Amino acid sequence: MRKVSIFGATGSIGQNTIDLIKRAPDEYEVVALTGASNINQLAEDAKALKAQIAVTADESRLDALRDALQGSGIAAAAGSTAITEAATRPADWIMSAIVGAAGLAPGMAALAQGNTLALANKESLVCAGKLLLETGRAHGAQILPVDSEHSAVFQALVGEDIAAVERIIITASGGAFRDWPLADLSDATLDQASSHPNWDMGQRITIDSASMFNKAMEIIETREFFGVDPAQIEVLIHPQSMIHALVGFKDGALMAHVGPPDMRHAIGYALHYPTRRHLPVERLDLAAIGNFEFRAPDDARWPALRIAREVMARGGLSGAVFNAAKETALDGFIAGHLKFTQMSDVVSQVLEQMDAQGGHIDDTMTLDNVLETDHLARKAAVGVIKDRT
Ligand code: NDP
Ligand code: MG
Repeated sequence: MRKVSIFGATGSIGQNTIDLIKRAPDEYEVVALTGASNINQLAEDAKALKAQIAVTADESRLDALRDALQGSGIAAAAGSTAITEAATRPADWIMSAIVGAAGLAPGMAALAQGNTLALANKESLVCAGKLLLETGRAHGAQILPVDSEHSAVFQALVGEDIAAVERIIITASGGAFRDWPLADLSDATLDQASSHPNWDMGQRITIDSASMFNKAMEIIETREFFGVDPAQIEVLIHPQSMIHALVGFKDGALMAHVGPPDMRHAIGYALHYPTRRHLPVERLDLAAIGNFEFRAPDDARWPALRIAREVMARGGLSGAVFNAAKETALDGFIAGHLKFTQMSDVVSQVLEQMDAQGGHIDDTMTLDNVLETDHLARKAAVGVIKDRT
């Protein structure tokens, strides 16, 4: 039996992971499941999968979790420290699917134990890519990409030499507003930004898809994960979300990864790696689809893409500043304090401010420094948002 843990089990990626695990219950021993607000789902899955421990990030919900698990023999715990501790429990495979920078410390803890980390939490690579990869290497722990584009690139690179790669093209659906008149974007509502044309995902990543902050993070994720130069990474708008990424080689060949927009493919690939197993995803009927559509990305519509390039050029801890400012701006939009188009202004302003202050951005990358920088950037972002409203 393989021991598995799922961090962010109650979310969209977590639930898709559980769907795959439940299909082969005899093969897996579930160690830890974590969630935050959705106690009922967490307890229900912990019982169904006979987990050793269920942890909620929210300490005020510990009693509710204990009540829900009563009589099951499953341990309950709460708080971010308890989540990180759960990541140190021995497991063969750990899904990192907490949303936001909160996924970094548990991911680091899992790697420090030598556990294989299936990484959906792209924020940890954006904040601290170098640190995460070094920790994995130092402890012989493997990191497998779960983000669909990065899984696609990873698959296209099997048996290839990274030195033969000329470029990596990650695709983007364009999100909710790809066809909107530019002038209307500033009036986009939360509901409109929270609905994705192709993918069924958590609310935060769905809004990040509309603003293209998701793709901006994925450019940085590509650079960290595959160690390529930023100039080798391209973004291509592909409204159908069926080609997830393409790898261009020195001899002119482009290897494309084609599949339905269903995260269970990338999750399943990471779960069964290095083998391929049957997965319950739709088989594409290419004749019925007829053609694939592509467009160049539009910088005026999606300033986030330009910001990502600036962050990569800046280096140091600017990824942590970028992510924290983005998360805070997103909170501001969700709370109704910012217009959709103001999110990128806030992120740019925080990057400039932190850069002008010097110091932290150039600090050595340690977990403490990343978390401190994250904290300072959130504070700066709150200030910038207050000044605007
Ligand atoms: P969801 O919002 O659906 O789920 C997030 C998960 O994290 C939930 O289990 C939630 O608990 C938990 N959580 C929220 N806040 C905290 C916190 N402070 N500490 C610990 N746990 C917390 O997100 P998704 O599943 O959509 O995304 C998860 C990650 O995967 C993100 O990094 C995202 O970018 C990435 N990803 C997602 C894709 C998708 O298709 N959804 C595709 C590619 C990448 P609860 O719900 O109980 O409150
Ligand atoms: Mg993606």
